[in-house]
Amino acid sequence: MTMAQALVLERQHELKLRDIDLPMDVGPGMVKIKIHTVGVCGSDVHYYTHGRIGPFVVNAPMVLGHEAAGTVVEIGQGVTHLKVGDRVCMEPGIPDPNSRASRLGMYNVDPAVTFWATPPIHGVLTPFVVHPANYTFRLPDNVSFAEGAMVEPFAVGMQAATKARITPGDTAVVLGAGPIGTMVAIAALAGGCARAIVADLAQPKLDIAARYQGIIPVNIRENSIVSEVKRLTEDWGADIVFECSGSPKAWETIMDLPRPGGTIVVVGLPVEPAPFDIATASTKEIRIETVFRYAHQYDRAIALFASGRVDLKPLISETFAFKDSVAAFDRAVEARPSDVKLQIRMPD
Ligand SMILES: [Zn+2]
Repeated sequence: MTMAQALVLERQHELKLRDIDLPMDVGPGMVKIKIHTVGVCGSDVHYYTHGRIGPFVVNAPMVLGHEAAGTVVEIGQGVTHLKVGDRVCMEPGIPDPNSRASRLGMYNVDPAVTFWATPPIHGVLTPFVVHPANYTFRLPDNVSFAEGAMVEPFAVGMQAATKARITPGDTAVVLGAGPIGTMVAIAALAGGCARAIVADLAQPKLDIAARYQGIIPVNIRENSIVSEVKRLTEDWGADIVFECSGSPKAWETIMDLPRPGGTIVVVGLPVEPAPFDIATASTKEIRIETVFRYAHQYDRAIALFASGRVDLKPLISETFAFKDSVAAFDRAVEARPSDVKLQIRMPD
């Protein structure tokens, strides 16, 4: 253990920049990374404001942050695909590689998975972290650290687009234009959708999403999403609907959005059980898919960034210095509709 400065969530509502003991031994198969940029995620903010997410409760001080990029400064025994000086981003969830879920290729749903900044595991808002090399990915020269720190949330969009099984030319609907909804829409377009009709109540969020070619914004304060989708698809419906709002209200009319034989991909998580219109779903033979984080998406996300086909830089609203981390989180709590992603930069 080594004492290091970190952004520590002491308990609900109490964040402090202070020294804390963190593991820094670089064992076999591990790499030590000097952190450069960390994104502020809705889940980090939720632990700050609520002290828990579902069954995960903050019972002891925990370092926040899980969307990170940095530079390799030390490699452990047996690591061959990385070297000191490599610029990298890290996948925060580590499964048991021999678990039944991992052997099926679904390591994201391994019950034994540990994940940065999910109690009791510390996150990475601290200058250095030690991480398994196999979950550490080299960034090409033309992908910045800031973009590297966007790979984690974008991987959720990639997972949703993968689960949707997009056919080129599909029409997608995305309910919710928050950071995840917007990134799901961008991933769906990268995956072959001809257009993504994005619905939200907040016009500033829609304006940001609509900067991307192929995104059609619908303000549901002014227009019903059901009638807009009908109008845009000549009454047929959308091939794929991504539910990213997490609002139980979305479930009241969601079955009216897909075409017969269409698909709903559930990304947003309502806190309470939501009503589910089984009869309409069955009548249309709708396929329902769910998403829990992601598996096998980092290399593909990085490839899309490097190709220039996906540019998430317009989604980075503001960058804070590490010493101003608490202010960054208080700004995130404000939930300004014009903020998509806030990031924190570690000192050089
Ligand atoms: Zn995140």
